[in-house]
Amino acid sequence: VNGSIEIPVVVNVLYRTAAENISLAQIQSQIDVLNADFNASNSDYNLVPSIFSGVKANVGITFVLDQVIRKSTTKTSWGTRDAMKKTKSGGLNPTSPTTKLNLWVCTIGGGILGYAQFPGGSSATDGVVVDSKYVGVTSNTGPSYPYNLGRTATHEVGHWLNLRHIWGDTTCGSDLVADTPTHNTANYGVPAYPHYSTCSGTPIEMTMNYMDYTDDRGMYMFTTGQKTRMDALFLSGGARFSFAQ
Ligand code: ZN
Ligand code: CA
Repeated sequence: VNGSIEIPVVVNVLYRTAAENISLAQIQSQIDVLNADFNASNSDYNLVPSIFSGVKANVGITFVLDQVIRKSTTKTSWGTRDAMKKTKSGGLNPTSPTTKLNLWVCTIGGGILGYAQFPGGSSATDGVVVDSKYVGVTSNTGPSYPYNLGRTATHEVGHWLNLRHIWGDTTCGSDLVADTPTHNTANYGVPAYPHYSTCSGTPIEMTMNYMDYTDDRGMYMFTTGQKTRMDALFLSGGARFSFAQ
């Protein structure tokens, strides 16, 4: 917390094709995005609308590439039931999951960009999964556009650090964070500002929050309330206290 949390990242690459065997440069570009986004040094942070300037936050968590483990496989897609996290199902078991963030890079399938395990679950499956096509920064015109700026991992690491979707996964639901407005539902694309909620009080929605579902270029902030929720994990008794040691 307060810039003192440093999280080693183990990247587990499962590949069948050459494209799935992403380069070290591609992986490092993802680590760089995580560091920018979690330290408010992303180049689009200045786009945060002024009505949110009082709540926009520098989370202050640093990510360090620890190691890259690569494994060739014959699987064409891995699904969302953790097969990639188990050596016995052809994947790779996590490395030191109570002290390192494990990131699995593989083809998930079904149009899924990524998924994460919330804090408090089994360490054997702890970590985040991001489809190989959406890891790191890629060209503006390539097949991974509009998810080409590494924000899938930012969003998934947000879940790994206990953040809920900003719309609370139901109509006008709660994300358990007080300083984020209530959203009707998920937003997609890059909504024009201001986008008003029809929920109680008709607030302007914070569509540029990493925990919405907008395109990568449409998301560029966390809030103080989200930071507080993440920070709590690293305190004594918190679900990720082992990462703070
Ligand atoms: Zn999500
Ligand atoms: Ca909220």
